[in-house]
Amino acid sequence: MTSIDLRSDTVTAPTPEMREAMNRAEVGDDVYGEDPTINRLQEMAAARLGKEAGLFVPSGTMGNLAAILAHCQRGDEVIVGNKAHTFLYEAGGISALGGVHSCQLPNQPDGTLRLDDINAAIRPDDPHDPISRLVALENTHNRCGGVALTVEYTRQVGELAHEQGLLLHLDGARLFNAAVTLGVPASELAAPADSVTFCLSKGLCAPVGSVICGSRDFIRRVHRIRKMLGGGMRQAGVLAAAGIVALETMVDRLADDHRRARMLAAGLAALPGLVLDPGTPRTNMIFLSLSAEVPLDGETFAERLQSRGVRVGVTDVRRFRLVTHYWIDDDAVTRTVSAFHETLISA
Ligand SMILES: *Cc1c(COP(=O)(O)O)cnc(C)c1O
Repeated sequence: MTSIDLRSDTVTAPTPEMREAMNRAEVGDDVYGEDPTINRLQEMAAARLGKEAGLFVPSGTMGNLAAILAHCQRGDEVIVGNKAHTFLYEAGGISALGGVHSCQLPNQPDGTLRLDDINAAIRPDDPHDPISRLVALENTHNRCGGVALTVEYTRQVGELAHEQGLLLHLDGARLFNAAVTLGVPASELAAPADSVTFCLSKGLCAPVGSVICGSRDFIRRVHRIRKMLGGGMRQAGVLAAAGIVALETMVDRLADDHRRARMLAAGLAALPGLVLDPGTPRTNMIFLSLSAEVPLDGETFAERLQSRGVRVGVTDVRRFRLVTHYWIDDDAVTRTVSAFHETLISA
C-alpha cells in the first residue's frame, strides 16, 4: 500500500514535468551570476510579487535569515509574532548569527499582530533601548492554522511600520496559498512589504528552494549575506528549473488542495472522537485533537494510522496537523477518513 503522507506539504516530490525540466535545464555558475535558469526564475518571481529583484536561496529559513540580516544591524530589534516560524522554528538564527534582538507579540488566532500592540512595542529614541527596525509578518500563518492575512491588514501594518521609520518583512512561505484562497494576486499581498520570501518546496512541489524578493538595492545586500551564510550555489539551475515549473503551473491548482482539505475536514468532523479546531481548514492545513474518551495518546494514534498507510503530523500530546498537497488526491482523502475511523473504533 502506498503511504498517504499528510505530515506537511514539504514532503511533495517533484512532478514528472519538473523532472523533465530539471533534465533539460541550462546551467552556469550562479556565484558568477551565470546560471540562466536561476536568473530567469529570479526575474519571474520578482515580477510575480511586484518587486524589482529576486534571489534564489536553498531554504525558507535562509531566506528569512538573510532578509532580516540585510535589514537589521546587530542589536536592532525585530517585532515578530510569538507563534511565528521565524521565532519558533528557525533555530534562533537571527539572534545567534545576526545579533538581532526580537520583541515577540501575541499572535491573534487569525494570525495577525494587533496594530495597537505593534505601536506600543516600537521603542523611543533612547540610548537604553534597542533600535526598532523591522516588523515581520507570516502569510499564511502556519501555527495559527494556515490562516491568510488580508491585503488590507498587511497594508495597515506596512503603513504603521513605515510611518515610524520601520521596515516590513513578510515570511510568505505559503504566500500563494493565501493569494489563491483570498482570490487576490500575490503581488497585492506583497506590496506593503519591503521584503518577501516564499517557498517553492512546499505546496508548489519543487524539490528545493525559496526566493527572496525586494528592491534591487536590498537584493544586492542580501546577495552578500547569502554568500556569507554558505548559500551561494553553483549549477543550481537544475533546481531552479523545477521552481519555474512550480510558478508557471502549480499556483492555481493550490485551490484543489484547499478543496480537498475541506473534504477531509468534513469527513473527519463526522467521526466521534475527533475535535477539529474551529474554522479549520483555512487553506491546506487541518488541525484536530483527540477527544477525552479516546484511550490513546497522539503518538500511538499516529503509529496506528501509519500502519494503515496514513502519516500525520503530531503537534502536541493529543493533537495533529494534516496538510493536503499535490500528491493527495480524492481517493487519498477517502482512505484517510477510513484509516481514522478504523483506528478510532479499534482503540
Ligand atoms: C517552512 C516554513 C519556513 C521555512 O522554510 P524551510 O524551507 O523549511 O527552511 C518559513 N516560514 C514558514 C511559515 C514556513 O512554513
